[in-house]
Parts: sequence; C-alpha cells; structure tokens
Amino acid sequence: MVPDRPGQGGCGTCSRCLDACPTGALEAPYVLRADRCLAYLTIEERGAIPTELRGAVGDWVFGCDTCQQVCPHNHRPHPAADAALDSCQGAGAYLDLERLLTIEDADAYLGRLQGTALTRPGREGLIRNGCLAVARLGLVDLSPLLCRLLLSDPSPLVRGHAAWALGRLNDPRCRERLLDASAAEADPAVLQEIRRAVAGDAGL
Ligand code: SF4
Ligand code: SF4
Repeated sequence: MVPDRPGQGGCGTCSRCLDACPTGALEAPYVLRADRCLAYLTIEERGAIPTELRGAVGDWVFGCDTCQQVCPHNHRPHPAADAALDSCQGAGAYLDLERLLTIEDADAYLGRLQGTALTRPGREGLIRNGCLAVARLGLVDLSPLLCRLLLSDPSPLVRGHAAWALGRLNDPRCRERLLDASAAEADPAVLQEIRRAVAGDAGL
C-alpha cells in the first residue's frame, strides 16, 4: 500500500494553540506532550490526574480542545450533514455534575451514557474528572456528594479525587467527614490525599 503524502501543514506564523493551551502541553510547534494534555488525561489516563495539573482542568470533565477552538482553520465549521453526528447528540451539550457524581455503578453508567464517547474513561475516570470540576467551579453545594464518594465509593481513584476536591472547597461542614475517612481508609494513596486535604495542601 502506498502511504499518503505527508501533510504540509498550514500554520504559517500562527501560534494561537500554543499560546492558549492551559497546561503547556504544546511545547513547541508540532510537539505535543500527551502527559500534560487534558484531552489525554481526562479520557485516556486510567490513574490519578497529576496534582500540579488538576487546577488546569477547569470545568471540563471530558477532553479540552481549547487548541481546536482557537485555531483559525476551525472558525467556520460546516454543520454536521447527519443530525446524529451533531456535537450535542448523545449525552447533550453539558453534563449535569450532580447526576454524574451519583452514578452508582458500571451498569448505571452504561445505562446513562452507552452509545456515546463518554464511556471511554469508564465510570471511575469520568467521576474522577467530575470531582475536579466541582472543586474548580467552587460548587460547595455538592460537597455532601463528594463526602459520600470519599466514604463509600469502591474506587480508590474516586475516593482520592473526592478528597482532593473537598480540600479545595474547604467546606467546614466536611471536615468531620475527612477525619472519619482518614480513620477508615486503608489505601495509602487515598490516605495521602485525605491528609493533604485536611492540612489544606491540595496543590494548585
Ligand atoms: S487539548 Fe487542551 S491541554 Fe491538550 S493540547 Fe489542546 S489545549 Fe492543550
Ligand atoms: S492555532 Fe491552528 S493554525 Fe495556529 S498554529 Fe495552531 S494548528 Fe496551526
């Protein structure tokens, strides 16, 4: 099979994507560090989001694509020829964080999102991301849901990110819950997150 000719590129002197990337993942023209890219971290990463990048996640729970939004090549997108391919199809334009954080198990997760790309990170990955978004948006009203995840979710990944988010929100109503979790938690990584949250050292 004869491969395509290499792309020629069409960036000229533009550097908008490099300037707009919130994590510096676009280190240089045509150089992407996946380990700093929020699209990679929120969709493909199966472990913890690096602490120093959690603050950059913003209100995204799935991907980022700021680099695509600022690119002049994308300024006049063609509408989808097939309505089924419209970007708001499937899960809708926005995810309700309260609904996301209360998805109990894998079956409920698939029941809500099956057939959409949002199944890619799995329940624990998407709820992990949701915890960070709650913290970044300052949604103190959702603190009780974070406490519930911290104290009873079967996933250490979810419990650890719930602890981080509680540390960021610093809701005095949740301090007792953090201390309860500290006494009961057996996973060393989660315990470390809880201790940092209690100490007010949640990183960025
Ligand atoms: S998706 Fe976001 S984090 Fe990743 S390179 Fe683009 S702007 Fe940067
Ligand atoms: S924003 Fe678009 S045109 Fe500008 S450097 Fe990035 S990819 Fe190239």
